[in-house]
Amino acid sequence: MHRDFPLVGAVVLLIVLPLVLLNVSHASAAPDRNAVLDLAFPVAGSSTYDDTYTANRDGGDRRHQATDIFGVKGQAVHAVVSGEICFAPGIDEPMPGYGYMLRICRDGVTYSYIHLNNDTPGTDDGQGGHERAYAPGIRVGVQVTRGQLIGWLGDSGNAEDTPPHLHFSIFDTAFEDPELERAPWRQHYRNPYPSLVAAEARGEVPGATSGAIRLGHRGEAVQAWQEALNRALDAGLGTDGVFGPATDAATRAFQEARGLEVDGIVGPATLAAIETVTGTPVAAAGDDPQQVSDGTFPGRLLRLTDPMLRGEDVREWQARMRERGWRGADGAPLEVDGWFGPDSDRAARLFQEEKGLTVDGVIGPSTWAATFD
Ligand SMILES: [Zn+2]
Repeated sequence: MHRDFPLVGAVVLLIVLPLVLLNVSHASAAPDRNAVLDLAFPVAGSSTYDDTYTANRDGGDRRHQATDIFGVKGQAVHAVVSGEICFAPGIDEPMPGYGYMLRICRDGVTYSYIHLNNDTPGTDDGQGGHERAYAPGIRVGVQVTRGQLIGWLGDSGNAEDTPPHLHFSIFDTAFEDPELERAPWRQHYRNPYPSLVAAEARGEVPGATSGAIRLGHRGEAVQAWQEALNRALDAGLGTDGVFGPATDAATRAFQEARGLEVDGIVGPATLAAIETVTGTPVAAAGDDPQQVSDGTFPGRLLRLTDPMLRGEDVREWQARMRERGWRGADGAPLEVDGWFGPDSDRAARLFQEEKGLTVDGVIGPSTWAATFD
């Protein structure tokens, strides 16, 4: 019986393959506006959205042909694909009436981000300026990479009287949907909704906490946050720059008091809220807040693999090794890049040898514990 399978399989293929090919060519003649595209999710952190592609707008004169992603003012907005910023009004001239918006262009497709933030934190004053709409360095002609921070969600333009949201649309000249709209250019809008759902399902909600600090972080941004909490809540925190349980509890108390999501994560919304309370802006952490370890093995064996392992656990181990004075093969301090590459492997083996551990280049519980000893 087993021997028959390849033959049966081949026969089935011969019958099915032409049908599949026919189907593909038919599909390209009438493209599906709901096709799933390969995108990263544009809004960091929690947000809500529905499929409103065909919803009427302007009293039925047009359809929405976009997805509105609702969040809070100041929520980070990221590049869904790598490409070029091809539209970014309001930098060298006043904000236009339609508000702050960004477009990323790539291969004839335009991804638009509309209603970006135009308010100073905690207000609806319209005085935020482009610095609170677009991330530093974002302007026309700049190349951005998928997942990169490009701006902040808001309510500029004709969204002033709506809850803050990102109007996200995909305009693809290679796509035409003659059934939906009469105005010719409107036939090129794809429905972002299925692609957004797919990105979320894959977990590709980029940098949900990028530039944010939380339990386990340390550094200047944490210290600034502790000082701000002390001003806002009279929290009496030590300002040691280590985001420990007391800072976490005070952060959550602050978030609860301000009606924010109580997650202990100090992101743009929480920073904006504390600026409103204290009248003093608090600098956000960089892209990569420093981790502090409590020495607990994170659970994954780290070793040189192909492709290389990457993650916060690798970064944390590298940072600690660097602190201990370990260097790469070139003699420079061990790079803390989160990739377990040849330099990490080399340092791991030498370290194991020094500590009298099994020299296998594998960071398991005992090597981890020795590193953080
Ligand atoms: Zn919209």
